[in-house]
Amino acid sequence: MSPSVDQLAILWYPPAYDIRVEKVSVPRVEHPDDAVVKVRLAGLCGSDLHLYRGTEGITEPCICGHEFVGEVVELGSSFQPSVPCDRPSLYSTLKVGDRVISPFTVSCGECHFCRVGFTCRCAESRLFGTPNTPGGQAQYVRVPKAGGTLYRLDEALAAYTAQELEAQCSTPRLADSSLLLLCDILPTGVFAAFQALNHPKTLPMMTSQPYPHSSALITLKGILAPSLHRPQDTVLLIAVIGLGPVGVCACVAMLDILHAKGLDFRLVAIDPIEARRNKMASIYSKMSRDQERGYLEVASIEDSRCIIFEWSNGVGCNVVLEASVVGNSSALSLAYELVRPFGCITSVGAHSDSAVPFTGRELYDKNVSLDFGRCPVRAMFPMALDLLVRRQDIFGDVGGEVSLVDKVVGFSEAATMYQEFDKGKCGKVLFDPWK
Ligand SMILES: [Zn+2]
Ligand SMILES: [Zn+2]
Repeated sequence: MSPSVDQLAILWYPPAYDIRVEKVSVPRVEHPDDAVVKVRLAGLCGSDLHLYRGTEGITEPCICGHEFVGEVVELGSSFQPSVPCDRPSLYSTLKVGDRVISPFTVSCGECHFCRVGFTCRCAESRLFGTPNTPGGQAQYVRVPKAGGTLYRLDEALAAYTAQELEAQCSTPRLADSSLLLLCDILPTGVFAAFQALNHPKTLPMMTSQPYPHSSALITLKGILAPSLHRPQDTVLLIAVIGLGPVGVCACVAMLDILHAKGLDFRLVAIDPIEARRNKMASIYSKMSRDQERGYLEVASIEDSRCIIFEWSNGVGCNVVLEASVVGNSSALSLAYELVRPFGCITSVGAHSDSAVPFTGRELYDKNVSLDFGRCPVRAMFPMALDLLVRRQDIFGDVGGEVSLVDKVVGFSEAATMYQEFDKGKCGKVLFDPWK
Protein backbone atom coordinates (compact mmCIF):
# COMPACT_ATOMS: atom_id res chain seq x y z
CA MET A 1 0.00 0.00 0.00
CA SER A 2 1.43 3.38 -0.95
CA PRO A 3 1.89 5.75 1.97
CA SER A 4 -0.12 8.97 1.99
CA VAL A 5 1.46 12.27 0.98
CA ASP A 6 2.17 13.63 4.45
CA GLN A 7 3.81 12.12 7.47
CA LEU A 8 4.76 13.20 10.98
CA ALA A 9 8.44 13.72 11.79
CA ILE A 10 10.57 15.09 14.61
CA LEU A 11 12.56 18.11 13.42
CA TRP A 12 15.39 20.04 15.00
CA TYR A 13 15.62 23.79 14.40
CA PRO A 14 18.78 25.87 14.71
CA PRO A 15 20.45 27.30 16.66
CA ALA A 16 19.78 24.79 19.49
CA TYR A 17 17.35 23.06 21.89
CA ASP A 18 14.37 23.47 19.52
CA ILE A 19 12.50 20.22 18.74
CA ARG A 20 9.19 20.28 16.86
CA VAL A 21 6.87 17.60 15.52
CA GLU A 22 5.67 18.64 12.07
CA LYS A 23 3.89 17.39 8.98
CA VAL A 24 6.33 16.89 6.12
CA SER A 25 6.06 15.03 2.84
CA VAL A 26 6.66 11.29 2.75
CA PRO A 27 10.03 10.53 1.12
CA ARG A 28 10.03 8.75 -2.24
CA VAL A 29 12.62 6.75 -4.12
CA GLU A 30 14.98 9.29 -5.72
CA HIS A 31 17.74 6.96 -6.96
CA PRO A 32 17.51 3.36 -8.27
CA ASP A 33 19.42 2.10 -5.17
CA ASP A 34 16.99 3.71 -2.68
CA ALA A 35 14.47 2.04 -0.40
CA VAL A 36 11.71 3.74 1.58
CA VAL A 37 11.15 2.26 5.02
CA LYS A 38 8.06 2.60 7.20
CA VAL A 39 9.52 3.18 10.66
CA ARG A 40 8.38 0.85 13.42
CA LEU A 41 10.62 2.28 16.16
CA ALA A 42 13.23 5.04 16.26
CA GLY A 43 15.84 5.64 18.96
CA LEU A 44 17.00 8.74 20.80
CA CYS A 45 20.74 8.43 21.24
CA GLY A 46 23.51 10.24 23.12
CA SER A 47 25.04 11.40 19.87
CA ASP A 48 21.74 13.13 18.91
CA LEU A 49 22.64 15.57 21.66
CA HIS A 50 25.42 17.12 19.55
CA LEU A 51 22.79 18.31 17.07
CA TYR A 52 20.32 19.19 19.84
CA ARG A 53 22.86 21.39 21.61
CA GLY A 54 23.81 23.11 18.37
CA THR A 55 27.45 22.04 18.44
CA GLU A 56 27.48 20.42 14.97
CA GLY A 57 27.65 23.69 13.01
CA ILE A 58 24.40 22.78 11.19
CA THR A 59 22.41 25.86 10.23
CA GLU A 60 19.21 24.47 8.67
CA PRO A 61 16.37 22.44 10.19
CA CYS A 62 16.49 18.67 9.71
CA ILE A 63 14.62 15.47 10.55
CA CYS A 64 16.39 13.90 13.54
CA GLY A 65 17.44 10.38 14.36
CA HIS A 66 19.96 7.83 13.14
CA GLU A 67 18.51 4.67 14.74
CA PHE A 68 15.46 3.02 13.18
CA VAL A 69 13.91 -0.34 12.40
CA GLY A 70 10.93 -0.87 10.15
CA GLU A 71 9.45 -2.39 7.06
CA VAL A 72 10.25 -1.77 3.39
CA VAL A 73 7.39 -0.02 1.55
CA GLU A 74 9.08 1.05 -1.71
CA LEU A 75 12.16 -0.04 -3.67
CA GLY A 76 14.13 1.56 -6.49
CA SER A 77 14.67 -0.06 -9.88
CA SER A 78 18.06 -1.57 -8.85
CA PHE A 79 16.15 -4.14 -6.80
CA GLN A 80 15.39 -6.98 -9.21
CA PRO A 81 15.87 -10.76 -9.33
CA SER A 82 19.05 -10.69 -11.39
CA VAL A 83 21.66 -8.16 -10.36
CA PRO A 84 25.37 -8.10 -11.32
CA CYS A 85 27.30 -10.50 -9.08
CA ASP A 86 29.60 -7.73 -7.81
CA ARG A 87 26.66 -5.90 -6.22
CA PRO A 88 25.39 -6.75 -2.70
CA SER A 89 22.95 -9.67 -2.84
CA LEU A 90 20.25 -7.66 -1.08
CA TYR A 91 19.56 -5.92 -4.41
CA SER A 92 18.12 -9.22 -5.61
CA THR A 93 16.53 -10.50 -2.39
CA LEU A 94 14.96 -7.50 -0.62
CA LYS A 95 11.19 -7.27 -1.05
CA VAL A 96 8.48 -4.81 -0.12
CA GLY A 97 7.16 -5.94 3.29
CA ASP A 98 10.53 -7.20 4.58
CA ARG A 99 11.50 -6.22 8.14
CA VAL A 100 14.79 -4.33 8.11
CA ILE A 101 17.31 -2.80 10.49
CA SER A 102 19.45 0.13 9.44
CA PRO A 103 22.92 0.99 10.71
CA PHE A 104 23.20 4.68 11.58
CA THR A 105 25.31 5.43 8.51
CA VAL A 106 24.84 4.63 4.83
CA SER A 107 27.32 2.14 3.37
CA CYS A 108 27.37 1.09 -0.29
CA GLY A 109 28.73 -2.44 0.24
CA GLU A 110 30.83 -2.04 -2.91
CA CYS A 111 33.76 0.35 -2.26
CA HIS A 112 37.14 -0.73 -0.86
CA PHE A 113 36.19 0.23 2.72
CA CYS A 114 32.92 -1.70 2.60
CA ARG A 115 34.56 -4.71 0.95
CA VAL A 116 37.17 -5.04 3.72
CA GLY A 117 34.69 -4.41 6.56
CA PHE A 118 35.46 -0.78 7.47
CA THR A 119 31.90 0.10 6.56
CA CYS A 120 31.58 3.29 8.60
CA ARG A 121 34.17 4.92 6.33
CA CYS A 122 32.40 3.95 3.11
CA ALA A 123 33.29 6.27 0.23
CA GLU A 124 29.56 7.10 0.02
CA SER A 125 29.00 7.30 3.77
CA ARG A 126 26.26 9.57 5.09
CA LEU A 127 24.93 9.98 8.59
CA PHE A 128 21.18 9.74 9.08
CA GLY A 129 19.61 12.70 10.85
CA THR A 130 21.50 15.43 9.00
CA PRO A 131 20.21 17.94 6.40
CA ASN A 132 21.38 15.86 3.40
CA THR A 133 20.15 12.54 4.85
CA PRO A 134 16.85 13.01 6.75
CA GLY A 135 16.68 10.81 9.83
CA GLY A 136 14.53 8.00 11.15
CA GLN A 137 12.55 9.88 13.80
CA ALA A 138 9.73 10.01 11.28
CA GLN A 139 6.98 7.74 10.01
CA TYR A 140 8.93 7.06 6.81
CA VAL A 141 12.60 7.37 5.88
CA ARG A 142 14.50 7.10 2.59
CA VAL A 143 17.55 4.83 2.75
CA PRO A 144 20.23 5.56 0.09
CA LYS A 145 22.37 2.63 -1.14
CA ALA A 146 19.81 0.41 0.58
CA GLY A 147 21.21 -2.86 -0.80
CA GLY A 148 24.51 -2.18 0.98
CA THR A 149 23.10 -0.44 4.05
CA LEU A 150 20.08 -2.39 5.31
CA TYR A 151 19.86 -5.79 7.01
CA ARG A 152 17.00 -8.03 6.18
CA LEU A 153 16.03 -9.31 9.60
CA ASP A 154 14.54 -12.63 8.61
CA GLU A 155 17.62 -13.47 6.54
CA ALA A 156 19.88 -12.64 9.51
CA LEU A 157 17.79 -14.79 11.84
CA ALA A 158 17.74 -17.70 9.39
CA ALA A 159 21.05 -18.80 10.91
CA TYR A 160 19.13 -19.67 14.09
CA THR A 161 16.60 -22.47 14.29
CA ALA A 162 13.30 -21.83 16.05
CA GLN A 163 14.48 -24.08 18.88
CA GLU A 164 17.67 -22.10 19.28
CA LEU A 165 15.78 -18.83 19.35
CA GLU A 166 13.36 -20.28 21.87
CA ALA A 167 16.07 -21.76 24.06
CA GLN A 168 18.25 -18.69 23.97
CA CYS A 169 15.69 -15.94 24.15
CA SER A 170 12.97 -17.57 26.22
CA THR A 171 10.61 -16.12 23.57
CA PRO A 172 10.73 -17.33 19.97
CA ARG A 173 10.48 -13.73 18.81
CA LEU A 174 13.07 -11.09 19.55
CA ALA A 175 11.61 -8.00 21.23
CA ASP A 176 11.24 -5.17 18.69
CA SER A 177 12.72 -2.73 21.20
CA SER A 178 15.85 -4.88 21.40
CA LEU A 179 16.28 -4.89 17.60
CA LEU A 180 16.57 -1.12 17.72
CA LEU A 181 19.75 -1.57 19.77
CA LEU A 182 21.35 -3.12 16.67
CA CYS A 183 21.31 0.20 14.80
CA ASP A 184 24.09 1.67 16.88
CA ILE A 185 24.67 1.08 20.57
CA LEU A 186 25.04 -2.70 20.75
CA PRO A 187 27.40 -3.01 17.73
CA THR A 188 29.31 0.00 19.10
CA GLY A 189 29.72 -1.72 22.47
CA VAL A 190 30.77 -4.97 20.79
CA PHE A 191 33.20 -3.02 18.59
CA ALA A 192 34.80 -1.32 21.63
CA ALA A 193 35.27 -4.66 23.41
CA PHE A 194 36.51 -6.48 20.30
CA GLN A 195 38.89 -3.70 19.32
CA ALA A 196 40.46 -3.67 22.78
CA LEU A 197 40.75 -7.46 23.22
CA ASN A 198 41.96 -7.97 19.67
CA HIS A 199 44.74 -5.39 20.08
CA PRO A 200 48.33 -6.61 19.62
CA LYS A 201 49.21 -5.06 22.99
CA THR A 202 46.77 -7.32 24.85
CA LEU A 203 48.08 -10.48 23.20
CA PRO A 204 50.94 -11.17 25.67
CA MET A 205 48.34 -11.40 28.45
CA MET A 206 46.00 -13.57 26.38
CA THR A 207 48.54 -15.96 24.90
CA SER A 208 51.05 -16.20 27.80
CA GLN A 209 53.76 -15.39 25.26
CA PRO A 210 55.95 -12.30 25.68
CA TYR A 211 55.83 -9.56 23.09
CA PRO A 212 56.53 -9.80 20.15
CA HIS A 213 56.25 -13.62 20.16
CA SER A 214 52.59 -13.22 21.16
CA SER A 215 51.92 -12.21 17.56
CA ALA A 216 50.79 -14.75 14.96
CA LEU A 217 53.22 -13.04 12.55
CA ILE A 218 56.22 -14.47 14.40
CA THR A 219 57.19 -17.89 13.12
CA LEU A 220 60.78 -18.06 14.40
CA LYS A 221 61.75 -21.47 15.68
CA GLY A 222 64.23 -22.59 18.29
CA ILE A 223 65.31 -19.24 19.72
CA LEU A 224 62.51 -18.67 22.22
CA ALA A 225 63.58 -18.59 25.85
CA PRO A 226 61.12 -20.38 28.15
CA SER A 227 58.33 -18.00 29.05
CA LEU A 228 58.90 -16.24 32.36
CA HIS A 229 55.24 -15.30 32.65
CA ARG A 230 53.90 -15.35 36.18
CA PRO A 231 50.20 -15.97 36.84
CA GLN A 232 49.53 -12.29 37.47
CA ASP A 233 50.89 -11.42 34.00
CA THR A 234 47.96 -13.11 32.29
CA VAL A 235 45.25 -11.28 34.22
CA LEU A 236 43.75 -8.59 31.99
CA LEU A 237 42.93 -5.41 33.87
CA ILE A 238 40.21 -3.47 32.11
CA ALA A 239 38.40 -0.20 32.78
CA VAL A 240 35.22 0.94 31.06
CA ILE A 241 34.53 4.66 31.51
CA GLY A 242 30.90 5.70 31.07
CA LEU A 243 27.94 3.43 31.84
CA GLY A 244 25.35 4.91 29.53
CA PRO A 245 23.78 2.42 27.09
CA VAL A 246 26.96 2.08 24.99
CA GLY A 247 29.17 1.56 28.05
CA VAL A 248 26.80 -1.11 29.37
CA CYS A 249 26.81 -2.84 25.96
CA ALA A 250 30.62 -2.69 25.96
CA CYS A 251 30.75 -4.33 29.42
CA VAL A 252 28.28 -7.05 28.43
CA ALA A 253 30.22 -7.76 25.21
CA MET A 254 33.53 -7.75 27.07
CA LEU A 255 32.27 -10.17 29.75
CA ASP A 256 30.81 -12.41 27.07
CA ILE A 257 34.12 -12.67 25.17
CA LEU A 258 36.23 -13.05 28.34
CA HIS A 259 33.99 -15.83 29.55
CA ALA A 260 33.85 -17.63 26.20
CA LYS A 261 37.65 -17.58 25.95
CA GLY A 262 38.20 -18.54 29.60
CA LEU A 263 40.43 -15.52 30.25
CA ASP A 264 41.51 -14.18 33.64
CA PHE A 265 40.36 -10.62 34.17
CA ARG A 266 39.36 -7.80 36.48
CA LEU A 267 36.99 -5.20 35.06
CA VAL A 268 36.12 -1.90 36.70
CA ALA A 269 33.01 -0.20 35.29
CA ILE A 270 33.10 3.52 36.05
CA ASP A 271 30.43 6.22 36.10
CA PRO A 272 29.84 9.27 38.29
CA ILE A 273 26.06 8.62 38.34
CA GLU A 274 24.90 6.17 41.01
CA ALA A 275 21.78 5.01 39.14
CA ARG A 276 23.94 3.95 36.19
CA ARG A 277 26.34 2.07 38.45
CA ASN A 278 23.40 0.29 40.07
CA LYS A 279 22.02 -0.78 36.69
CA MET A 280 25.41 -2.14 35.65
CA ALA A 281 25.70 -4.04 38.94
CA SER A 282 22.25 -5.60 38.41
CA ILE A 283 23.17 -6.63 34.86
CA TYR A 284 26.44 -8.13 36.07
CA SER A 285 24.65 -10.16 38.72
CA LYS A 286 22.63 -11.75 35.89
CA MET A 287 25.79 -12.51 33.92
CA SER A 288 28.29 -13.69 36.51
CA ARG A 289 28.80 -17.42 36.68
CA ASP A 290 30.43 -19.74 39.19
CA GLN A 291 33.19 -20.75 36.81
CA GLU A 292 34.16 -17.19 35.91
CA ARG A 293 37.87 -16.48 35.94
CA GLY A 294 37.42 -12.85 36.85
CA TYR A 295 34.95 -10.30 38.13
CA LEU A 296 33.50 -6.86 37.58
CA GLU A 297 33.26 -4.05 40.08
CA VAL A 298 31.33 -0.84 39.57
CA ALA A 299 32.95 2.34 40.84
CA SER A 300 32.73 6.10 40.98
CA ILE A 301 35.59 7.99 39.33
CA GLU A 302 37.36 8.53 42.64
CA ASP A 303 36.98 4.92 43.78
CA SER A 304 38.17 3.59 40.41
CA ARG A 305 41.61 5.12 40.94
CA CYS A 306 42.05 3.28 44.26
CA ILE A 307 40.67 0.00 42.88
CA ILE A 308 43.01 -0.03 39.90
CA PHE A 309 45.96 1.02 42.04
CA GLU A 310 45.26 -1.89 44.35
CA TRP A 311 44.64 -4.43 41.56
CA SER A 312 47.77 -3.49 39.64
CA ASN A 313 50.25 -2.35 42.28
CA GLY A 314 49.97 1.09 40.80
CA VAL A 315 50.81 0.30 37.16
CA GLY A 316 47.30 0.69 35.73
CA CYS A 317 45.00 -1.12 33.27
CA ASN A 318 45.94 -3.02 30.11
CA VAL A 319 43.00 -1.55 28.28
CA VAL A 320 40.66 1.34 28.92
CA LEU A 321 37.40 1.73 27.01
CA GLU A 322 36.10 5.27 26.84
CA ALA A 323 32.39 5.00 26.11
CA SER A 324 31.05 8.31 27.29
CA VAL A 325 29.54 8.76 23.77
CA VAL A 326 29.24 12.52 23.95
CA GLY A 327 33.03 12.10 24.14
CA ASN A 328 34.30 14.55 26.69
CA SER A 329 37.86 15.34 27.43
CA SER A 330 37.68 14.62 31.18
CA ALA A 331 36.84 10.98 30.31
CA LEU A 332 39.91 10.85 28.06
CA SER A 333 42.11 12.39 30.77
CA LEU A 334 40.92 9.70 33.15
CA ALA A 335 41.59 7.03 30.50
CA TYR A 336 45.18 8.23 30.11
CA GLU A 337 45.59 8.30 33.88
CA LEU A 338 44.30 4.73 34.30
CA VAL A 339 46.12 3.05 31.41
CA ARG A 340 49.46 1.36 32.02
CA PRO A 341 52.57 1.61 29.83
CA PHE A 342 52.04 -0.38 26.60
CA GLY A 343 48.30 -0.22 27.21
CA CYS A 344 45.61 0.88 24.82
CA ILE A 345 42.73 3.30 24.99
CA THR A 346 39.70 2.56 22.82
CA SER A 347 37.35 5.49 22.49
CA VAL A 348 33.98 5.15 20.77
CA GLY A 349 32.57 8.50 21.90
CA ALA A 350 31.71 10.99 19.15
CA HIS A 351 34.19 13.77 19.86
CA SER A 352 33.85 17.46 19.09
CA ASP A 353 36.54 19.83 17.83
CA SER A 354 38.32 20.18 21.16
CA ALA A 355 41.90 18.87 21.30
CA VAL A 356 42.67 15.57 23.00
CA PRO A 357 43.87 16.21 26.55
CA PHE A 358 47.34 14.68 26.29
CA THR A 359 50.55 15.58 24.56
CA GLY A 360 52.64 13.60 22.12
CA ARG A 361 55.28 13.30 24.83
CA GLU A 362 52.77 11.80 27.27
CA LEU A 363 51.74 9.20 24.69
CA TYR A 364 55.38 8.45 23.89
CA ASP A 365 56.28 8.14 27.55
CA LYS A 366 53.66 5.44 28.11
CA ASN A 367 53.72 3.73 24.66
CA VAL A 368 49.97 4.22 24.61
CA SER A 369 47.90 3.14 21.61
CA LEU A 370 44.81 5.16 20.82
CA ASP A 371 41.88 3.69 18.89
CA PHE A 372 39.29 6.30 18.05
CA GLY A 373 36.30 6.44 15.86
CA ARG A 374 32.91 5.40 14.65
CA CYS A 375 31.75 1.79 14.78
CA PRO A 376 31.47 -0.04 11.42
CA VAL A 377 27.97 -1.22 12.38
CA ARG A 378 27.33 -3.08 9.14
CA ALA A 379 30.45 -5.22 9.70
CA MET A 380 29.82 -5.78 13.43
CA PHE A 381 26.18 -6.74 12.89
CA PRO A 382 26.55 -10.56 13.03
CA MET A 383 28.48 -10.43 16.33
CA ALA A 384 26.00 -7.96 17.81
CA LEU A 385 22.95 -9.95 16.67
CA ASP A 386 24.40 -13.11 18.16
CA LEU A 387 24.87 -11.40 21.52
CA LEU A 388 21.40 -9.89 21.30
CA VAL A 389 19.82 -13.30 20.69
CA ARG A 390 21.71 -14.92 23.56
CA ARG A 391 21.10 -12.10 26.06
CA GLN A 392 17.42 -11.25 25.63
CA ASP A 393 17.28 -11.42 29.43
CA ILE A 394 19.19 -8.14 29.38
CA PHE A 395 18.32 -6.55 26.06
CA GLY A 396 14.71 -7.70 25.64
CA ASP A 397 13.07 -5.76 28.47
CA VAL A 398 11.76 -2.18 28.63
CA GLY A 399 11.77 -0.08 31.80
CA GLY A 400 13.01 -2.89 34.07
CA GLU A 401 15.88 -3.10 36.50
CA VAL A 402 18.37 -4.34 33.89
CA SER A 403 16.88 -2.98 30.67
CA LEU A 404 18.76 -0.54 28.48
CA VAL A 405 15.57 0.93 27.03
CA ASP A 406 13.78 3.11 29.55
CA LYS A 407 10.51 3.73 27.70
CA VAL A 408 8.74 3.77 24.36
CA VAL A 409 6.78 6.99 23.73
CA GLY A 410 4.84 8.71 20.95
CA PHE A 411 6.05 11.75 19.00
CA SER A 412 3.93 14.10 21.15
CA GLU A 413 6.51 13.66 23.91
CA ALA A 414 9.51 14.35 21.66
CA ALA A 415 10.43 17.84 22.92
CA THR A 416 10.13 16.78 26.57
CA MET A 417 12.15 13.60 26.01
CA TYR A 418 14.99 15.50 24.31
CA GLN A 419 15.02 17.91 27.26
CA GLU A 420 15.06 15.16 29.87
CA PHE A 421 17.60 13.05 28.01
CA ASP A 422 19.88 16.08 27.62
CA LYS A 423 19.77 16.64 31.39
CA GLY A 424 20.44 12.95 32.13
CA LYS A 425 16.97 12.55 33.69
CA CYS A 426 16.06 9.48 31.63
CA GLY A 427 17.80 6.56 29.97
CA LYS A 428 17.38 5.42 26.39
CA VAL A 429 14.06 6.44 24.88
CA LEU A 430 12.44 4.94 21.78
CA PHE A 431 9.81 6.69 19.68
CA ASP A 432 6.87 4.80 18.23
CA PRO A 433 5.80 7.06 15.33
CA TRP A 434 2.37 5.44 15.21
CA LYS A 435 1.48 5.72 18.92
ZN1 LIG B 1 23.03 6.27 18.16
ZN1 LIG C 1 31.12 1.63 0.55
